[in-house]
Amino acid sequence: MQSFGEYFRYTAVLDNRTRKSHARLHGTILPKTDKFWDRNYPPNGWGCRCSVQVLTKKEIQKRGLTPLADSSMLKDVSDKAFAYNPKVDRLDSILKDKARKLGCNDVKANGGGLKFNSPCDKVKLSIDEIKEYDSLHKQVKELWNSEGKNIILAKSNDLIKKALQTNSDNILLSNATIQSHLHHPEITAAEYALVPFLLKNIISIYSDSQTKKVFVSLHGRYFRLVLKKTQYDEIFLNSLLSSSSLEKLEKKLRKKDIIYKESRWVAD
Ligand SMILES: [Zn+2]
Repeated sequence: MQSFGEYFRYTAVLDNRTRKSHARLHGTILPKTDKFWDRNYPPNGWGCRCSVQVLTKKEIQKRGLTPLADSSMLKDVSDKAFAYNPKVDRLDSILKDKARKLGCNDVKANGGGLKFNSPCDKVKLSIDEIKEYDSLHKQVKELWNSEGKNIILAKSNDLIKKALQTNSDNILLSNATIQSHLHHPEITAAEYALVPFLLKNIISIYSDSQTKKVFVSLHGRYFRLVLKKTQYDEIFLNSLLSSSSLEKLEKKLRKKDIIYKESRWVAD
């Protein structure tokens, strides 16, 4: 950690997509050991492109920069989904978890911090989507321990309605589905909360007698959603899987079952 540089300097991109609160931190220099970094080491939200620069005392003097003595005057900027409890979580595991949320696999150690490379920069959700994500993430976490309960996970869309032959507007998630997927550790509340965004990125839909299997790509990862229509004309998400390989997810499919691919319906 002390190998090079004693200070972090917060660096924001400073364009019209940068959050004001992050832009305000641009140029802020604090000792690496300041607790501020436990809570605010970037990225600090969906689409956040902020980073830190590592500086030595010498470099700071040479460039005539002035570090802050402490962070008591600074406000925390991290979004809820990116806020952690530094008393419980170690900084390295916090950053790895942030990277995982961003679907970012190439996290490299970088002088006491971790550097986020280009795939993360591709994560660009609007502020409204961030808010929607945060509230849904909270609901899914509550559903985790609420036996017998359902929540509305996402709005269905024209593709889903046509595939399932329903006019039902909502896609539901049940506690039972969460419980039956606990052996898939890659699927957490964070992944379920992505479903509204996943449904905007449908690649293909396969059909069997009971369910529709929907394949989706988001930020370099692939997801398979299994949707089922109940006898009461409700749509449930029955299963959610994720992989870096589309082939892996498609393995058990039969070609003749495809009903939608690459923006068009496949005639049978
Ligand atoms: Zn930022």
